Amino acid sequence: MNQMQKNIRALTLALLVLFGSLIVYFFYTIPAYSGRWFATPYNTRLRAAKSKVIPGDIFDRNGVLLASTDGDGSRRYKGSSSLRRGVAHVLGDPQGLVPTGAETMFAAELLGFHSGLFDRFAQLFAERRRGSDVTLTIDAELSAYIASEFPDGYDGAVALMDYESGEILALYSSPAFKLSDPSASAEGALLNRALQGRYAPGSIFKLITLSCALENIPNVLDRQIDCTGHLQVTGAVEVTDTSGEGHGHLTMREAFEKSCNIAYASLALELGEDALRRTARNFGFNGNFLFPEVIVYESLFPSSIEDEGELAWTGVGQGKLLASPLHMAMIAGAMANGGVMAQPKLLLSAKDQSGALRQGAAAKSFQRAVSADQAAILHGLMLETVQKGTATRAAVSGLQIGGKTGTAQVNSSGGKYEPHSWFIGFCEEKRLCLAVVVENGGAGSGAASRLAGKIFKKANR
Ligand SMILES: [Zn+2]
Repeated sequence: MNQMQKNIRALTLALLVLFGSLIVYFFYTIPAYSGRWFATPYNTRLRAAKSKVIPGDIFDRNGVLLASTDGDGSRRYKGSSSLRRGVAHVLGDPQGLVPTGAETMFAAELLGFHSGLFDRFAQLFAERRRGSDVTLTIDAELSAYIASEFPDGYDGAVALMDYESGEILALYSSPAFKLSDPSASAEGALLNRALQGRYAPGSIFKLITLSCALENIPNVLDRQIDCTGHLQVTGAVEVTDTSGEGHGHLTMREAFEKSCNIAYASLALELGEDALRRTARNFGFNGNFLFPEVIVYESLFPSSIEDEGELAWTGVGQGKLLASPLHMAMIAGAMANGGVMAQPKLLLSAKDQSGALRQGAAAKSFQRAVSADQAAILHGLMLETVQKGTATRAAVSGLQIGGKTGTAQVNSSGGKYEPHSWFIGFCEEKRLCLAVVVENGGAGSGAASRLAGKIFKKANR
């Protein structure tokens, strides 16, 4: 056999292997992620189906009707105006202008592509088939409450989730848009900030910096520091506390509860960028959020940090860090869930017209953020932060609530903007975790913490 034949044979074999792995990949990803792939605007079958099938209804977890289709084929959204605002981004629109919405993510169900054989047979002679009715994990009453309580006139987001099952109870994004006419909405309103918003995490990132310190510095919690409110890092960069006054003598526990920038900038300098990046990755930064039922933008830890100045600010949650609210809620939940982040879920079940029920994805953990021991420490610190630290406004008597506040500086060239205010936390009674972001809500994160407390209270009504 000459060399040419050998080469051809090797090449053929290589191509076969490649083709084989592509097929395996296809069959692996299609069942798990069919919603994500199915709903792309390039799917011509989907476009054709829309004219022939009456889409199914959409319900919340308690059976509250959120969307249905009229006799003339037009889609109707139900409930009070605060309910419609509260679920607007979760539902999205049939045209796919809000690609993260249920109308798009679960189009295959709503248009009957997953209906059982019996249903298909029974509907063979119908003029227009009906798709499956979809039940979401969303809580309509809580969603409406969040929409009505979110600070008036502010943009931002709320993500509320069961930290054990991953079931999402609310995703609110402000400004909301008009479900009946999404194309007429204000600029940026179609973006679901709870999933697609990327914000500097500010001080909530101190959870990650502290976790890295617990991992790498023996007995770090026994340390004490003296805070003057200023830390000269390089000639050009000085880290300051928000008040500028300094916290004085502090234990490391107090440095967390009072959110001392100086303590955390010092920790970051000691830990170095590689260790911080490793811990951030364990928490899901720079990871791939390929969830079957929810599209979440990934959070970013910078691939390179320029100098000590940037490193110090990164430990405080500034620098080039970016985080999405649902991801931050998952992190808060992990601290109450033994260190494990749950995979977010949005679909409870789908029922075709003959009554056959298809469950959504099974509850699954996404990733371990920290060991159970570390989670217990961070969990305790978050409880104390709500009892006597920066997040007392989130406290509700009788409820075990833990959390961390954040004030994220907005880097805007020229303009002077108030910082974003964050709160992330958990409430043990209903296994809830949440993230609240109020854009330009100002320092002190009062608005975000107060809203979080109200939501936990309402959820335990
Ligand atoms: Zn301080």
